[in-house]
Amino acid sequence: MTAQTNRQFLLAQRPVGAVTRENFTFREEAVGTPADGQILVKIEYLSLDPAMRGWMNEGKSYIPPVAIGQVMRALGVGKVVASEHPNFAVGDYVNGGLGVQDYFLGEPTGFYKVDPTLAPLPRYLSALGMTGMTAYFALLDVGAPKAGDTVVISGAAGAVGSIAGQIARLKGCRVVGIAGGREKCQFLIDELGFDGAIDYKSEDVIAGLKRECPKGVDVYFDNVGGDILDAVLSRLAFKARVVICGAISQYNNKEAVKGPANYLALLVNRARMEGFVVMDYAAQFGAAGQEMAGWLAEGRLKSKEDIVEGLETFPETLLKLFSGENFGKLVLKV
Ligand code: NDP
Repeated sequence: MTAQTNRQFLLAQRPVGAVTRENFTFREEAVGTPADGQILVKIEYLSLDPAMRGWMNEGKSYIPPVAIGQVMRALGVGKVVASEHPNFAVGDYVNGGLGVQDYFLGEPTGFYKVDPTLAPLPRYLSALGMTGMTAYFALLDVGAPKAGDTVVISGAAGAVGSIAGQIARLKGCRVVGIAGGREKCQFLIDELGFDGAIDYKSEDVIAGLKRECPKGVDVYFDNVGGDILDAVLSRLAFKARVVICGAISQYNNKEAVKGPANYLALLVNRARMEGFVVMDYAAQFGAAGQEMAGWLAEGRLKSKEDIVEGLETFPETLLKLFSGENFGKLVLKV
């Protein structure tokens, strides 16, 4: 190979509050060659996830934090350009933990192949990737929706929420999305077939829930936490299920996370609230991916990707998740 440059974002310091460019070191180094058991991948697209903010914090979580000086963790898709691994050949496209950089060099632990002729590469980071798997298993396994249930989803126009809502529709549920802004709410109804939408930025969420969910909420798929979680708790139906998928409103807190004040609604309604981590379902990703691909092919599921170009924009692009500037799955084209 001719000498290529690998641009990398390394974690330089742990953020306090929102991420800034100063939290990273931007480094350029020569691309190496794989040792035995390693592959070299030219990265094409990176998945930008709210979870990245959590991975930058010290302390115990469901996955170890990114170490200071380490390449910032990110899932991505790319093309194998050199291989010393028996299962991966030059020209294969792979999905895995590639990191925020131009090239990944290392052992392909947990990597799997994807076929760019079956779906555009960014879709393997959205409906056909971790995002889609999150929506699928958090809704169907933890939320356990039944036909006729009222399902409320926050962060509904986002990557996970938009897919979870469509799956709930496919299962015969009445689906109400909570999202920020008129355009996103209109999209949920007009494009994705949601039954109702609540614009939390311009209306009172409890009033919206009373209007859209007159029989109460059977399943609440929570992506945002905070005040919206409290509002939905106050409108639960008997035996409701609350899926704690995420709490983006709390990720940049400088003080302690704000927990729900209305948790006694669980007692009154004999409801349950359960946390979810997508990796627990890894053994079932293949079958779920097949089902999702079928729905996409039949036009029963839509996947919207919001693609921003330029690895160098990474810190500012990541912030779009927290300002709500992304519309669909946020993907960085390297
Ligand atoms: P999204 O595409 O949904 O982007 C984040 C969205 O969150 C923004 O577009 C914005 O939408 C909304 N948002 C941001 N700040 C706030 C706020 N303060 N209050 C209310 N809404 C806010 O991201 P993802 O789909 O990738 O992730 C959604 C959630 O799923 C996250 O909480 C994430 O951590 C979680 N997740 C959990 C996994 C698990 O295994 N448990 C795996 C993957 C994701 P708007 O314009 O509507 O405000």
